[in-house]
Amino acid sequence: MKSRSGSYIRVCGSKHNLSLGLKLATLLLLGQPLTAVAEWLGDARPMMGTEVSVYLWSEDPQAGGDLLEEVFQEAARIDRLMSTYKDDSEISEINRSAAGSPIVTSDELYSLIKRSIWISELTDGAFDITYESVGQFYDFRKRLRPDAATVEEELGNIDFHHLVLDDEARTVRFLQDGVRINLGGIAKGYVVERGIALLRAAGVENAVVTAGGDSRLLGDRRGRPWMIGIRDPRVDGQVAISVPLQDEAISTSGDYERYFEEDGVRYHHIIHPSTGAPASGVHSATVFGPDGVVTDALSTSVFVMGVDSGLRLIATLPEYESIVIDADGRVFYSDGLGQPDDTPRD
Ligand code: ADP
Ligand code: MG
Repeated sequence: MKSRSGSYIRVCGSKHNLSLGLKLATLLLLGQPLTAVAEWLGDARPMMGTEVSVYLWSEDPQAGGDLLEEVFQEAARIDRLMSTYKDDSEISEINRSAAGSPIVTSDELYSLIKRSIWISELTDGAFDITYESVGQFYDFRKRLRPDAATVEEELGNIDFHHLVLDDEARTVRFLQDGVRINLGGIAKGYVVERGIALLRAAGVENAVVTAGGDSRLLGDRRGRPWMIGIRDPRVDGQVAISVPLQDEAISTSGDYERYFEEDGVRYHHIIHPSTGAPASGVHSATVFGPDGVVTDALSTSVFVMGVDSGLRLIATLPEYESIVIDADGRVFYSDGLGQPDDTPRD
């Protein structure tokens, strides 16, 4: 149910030096020495081309420290399965061979690909893991992008209908040569869901796991909600909006995560499947709700769809809400949040 009212959204212009989730948590750790009593524990590591962090309340610091390590190991395991940067990952094998014959896939990867296709159907193709057919020609670190001829040649390979899944045999097949898939728009949401599931099973009741722009919260901050900052898309280190949440997931997709600029144009990592070019019109799209895999995929989707269609889609999903900052810096809220402040931010 959309039970939230606009009143709890706080639009703040103050200069907190915080970004999503764990940076806040990490700051709170300062000055708390390790002792053998219950306490907050946390750690952050560079992984998956971004930062993964874990923060939890532990009654037993020794066991809590082991749990932190387990979450990082789990993130590393998922990355090995799903990274297109690793030649020996399952996803790379699919990309190499699935146009020739159906490829038998692990349950885990199969079900994530299936969920991706479900989101593609839900979003009318705005979310499409075959974006990689053109996406593979971008390299944001090396400032490389495909030329017009390459985009024209490969654009026809972007379409999730080119993927054929067989539930019985658990195989993935591509209907044509040139199709490539990449789970970058959903994998970090999966990492944070898995991390929190692991902590919950171990008896932890208050925790945050963050991977890049995706956070999953377990419980609250012991009596208070977690305050999650949505960063200002154009001012590094500044929070634009704080959202109080508990027991939920929150994901932000932004055009500031991975990009380069050329002749005044920003080439970033969220690709519009119908053009093969970076989607424009939005600077950041945030989605929150019960499932981190869904919030991750939907934040990418709302970014691609733009303010109007994006928020119309969110209105059909009672458990999910969204906050979008458009290319003029205006902030838009989904229906369940009301419009606490619709004046342009400067
Ligand atoms: P982040 O990686 O910062 O969490 P997102 O969740 O928005 O941001 O994911 C962006 C990633 O999603 C890109 O790096 C790319 O791997 C993938 N991607 C880009 N465009 C699309 C798209 N249209 N559909 C599905 N995945 C996409
Ligand atoms: Mg996403």
